[in-house]
Amino acid sequence: MNISFQQTALITGASRGIGRAIARQLAGQGMFVYLSFRSNEAAAQKALDDIQTRNGRGALLRFDVTRQTECDAAVAAIIEQRGRLDILVNNAGIRDDHLFAMMKKPAWETVMNTHLNGFYHLTRPVVRQMLKQRCGRIINISSAAGQAGNAGQVNYSAAKAGIIGATKALAKEIGSRGITVNVVAPGFIETDMLTGMDLEKIKKEIPAGRLGQPEDVAAVVCFLCSDNAAYVNGQVIGVNGGLI
Ligand code: NAP
Repeated sequence: MNISFQQTALITGASRGIGRAIARQLAGQGMFVYLSFRSNEAAAQKALDDIQTRNGRGALLRFDVTRQTECDAAVAAIIEQRGRLDILVNNAGIRDDHLFAMMKKPAWETVMNTHLNGFYHLTRPVVRQMLKQRCGRIINISSAAGQAGNAGQVNYSAAKAGIIGATKALAKEIGSRGITVNVVAPGFIETDMLTGMDLEKIKKEIPAGRLGQPEDVAAVVCFLCSDNAAYVNGQVIGVNGGLI
């Protein structure tokens, strides 16, 4: 599967940060990109304007990954407009950090709901479409926290580890139908998600000596969408400057 002019991608959480960089890079390769967001329409519109200024093609889709009906409607709208969906990047995410002993149930549930239920709500209708097409690429954005655990992030680490397990199982289920499912696991990437963290302390723990940029992650996602990655399935690729 070569990235081509006809291809269509859906990137969740593409209004900002890593998702925005992924959308920009995929659009730069000629793909039609749907940028999904939940609430920050101004940021999403700016991300789309930026793509269109560079002669890229795309559209905005507002939906909340925690809501099944909204995910179903989004996938249906894409199929109606484009006739197919070649690439899904499950990127939308949040964190709600607390030491576990102090963690209240809503912090646990919101993070699980966004990452794990969100994966279920959106990926299932997409897989049903990709099975009909007999091709597709699914890339799930996990985290170094899901691979190694992070103090203060028991909820987030559990959700991101769950994404890795789901990816490996799904890759085995549908790998024979021309569909690959892989994980990209970023370390610390300079986005809004790091707001409030001690970045100088974090930098000292990273062998590369710097925070990652959204483009560092987007480049690996683009590779997984390319023909060169056709035999890469069920894998976890870290983008973390050597952190773990
Ligand atoms: P970000 O800058 O905070 O952006 C988060 C994006 O997710 C926004 O577009 C937001 O939409 C969207 N979103 C949040 N909840 C949503 C929901 N319920 N439904 C639909 N969209 C929702 O985050 P980021 O740093 O780019 O993170 C992107 C992904 O990488 C996340 O899965 C995150 O866990 C993972 N990650 C990040 C880092 C890091 O260091 N930054 C490290 C490892 C993994 P609105 O703009 O509308 O709010």
